[in-house]
Amino acid sequence: MAYRSGRHFLQIPGPTNVPDRILRAIDRPTIDHRGPEFAQLTRDLIAGLKEVFQTSGLVVIYPSSGSGAWEAALVNTLSPGDRILAFDHGFFAANWSKVAARMGLAVEVVPGDWRRGVDPAVVEEKLSRDREHRYKAVLVVHNETSTGVTSRLPEIREAMDRARHPALLMVDTVSSLGSIDYRHDEWGVDVTVSGSQKGLMLPPGLSFNAIGPRALEASKAAKLPRSYWSWDDMLEFNEAGFFPYTPATNLLFGLREALAMLKEEGLPQVFARHRRLATAARRAVAAWGLELVSADPREHSDTVSAVFTPEGVDADRIRRIILERFDMSLGAGLGKLKGKVFRIGHLGHFNDLMLAGTLCGVEMGLKAAGVPIAASGVQAALDFLSSNPAPGAD
Ligand SMILES: *Cc1c(COP(=O)(O)O)cnc(C)c1O
Repeated sequence: MAYRSGRHFLQIPGPTNVPDRILRAIDRPTIDHRGPEFAQLTRDLIAGLKEVFQTSGLVVIYPSSGSGAWEAALVNTLSPGDRILAFDHGFFAANWSKVAARMGLAVEVVPGDWRRGVDPAVVEEKLSRDREHRYKAVLVVHNETSTGVTSRLPEIREAMDRARHPALLMVDTVSSLGSIDYRHDEWGVDVTVSGSQKGLMLPPGLSFNAIGPRALEASKAAKLPRSYWSWDDMLEFNEAGFFPYTPATNLLFGLREALAMLKEEGLPQVFARHRRLATAARRAVAAWGLELVSADPREHSDTVSAVFTPEGVDADRIRRIILERFDMSLGAGLGKLKGKVFRIGHLGHFNDLMLAGTLCGVEMGLKAAGVPIAASGVQAALDFLSSNPAPGAD
């Protein structure tokens, strides 16, 4: 690779750009994870995470990527052969279902076209029909990163309540936590899964389970084998401020900084910032005359926009041109969307000018690839940003 001057634009929807403050927080000597300084760190992190998950319940931290927390949610609460309800609404939803099947669960997958989120009406219908309560859990990916679709969780919760069904609600928030409003307690979620490398602005390597009271109760009877992911061991050690095995100490230093940053900005402001920048990104896509994968405006994601390229145009070729010419990485189309879409990550440590630079790169890349565009998306986005200034920005 030739030398590249200036900053690389990492505009995939995760891992996201890691802010200098977090890099500096991580760049410290590792400490004794069984010593007194560590216990305070653990307690502070768990207290801070509860605010971000909007829960007064339990939160555990694993040294793993997000996929580990998927497995943890399942093995701690379910038993071999348990029936669970899942939805094929994107690449990550499909993969979580696959993990469940590998664990020996009987997964019923509701097919989907990957352009919409989980349909609350289908949830209600499926659960209402299940009079014997054979479904033990419902899996939902809050923000499907492969499609840029955010499922309407409060409506899904209401649908489950209307069906009076006791299945556990398990939600993946890997690409929404700390970017899009998410309320573990208020929305009656039993297990929330998340990861470090997206809205939390950290490098990959940490994952989380937020655990509600019904999930904790279910864990007492659950029979799937578990060791590394066991909540019991984790909660017992966490009580005293420690971990049952060596945690990712330096990433935890980074997490402390990330939580401080989210608190300084304020969660409502964080969500509003993502909404505003995402709206500007969508204005750009519309002006280019391109189509979002997300088909329902109620479900457009505020963290990632997945954009179809015109028929016959290889999205990966556009991504390659943008990387080579402008040193910017965009997300690839995943699974059945491979080659058909590129994805713009607009989450985490991100502001107006970073979005402007990102959209300039996309627009120049589209032109370089010979893709006809209707009008300047950059101009449309800038117009939106100027006429909708960030609150408190004057
Ligand atoms: C990134 C992501 C994951 C996967 O996490 P890994 O850290 O790659 O294991 C899971 N779910 C969603 C929705 C994601 O965006």
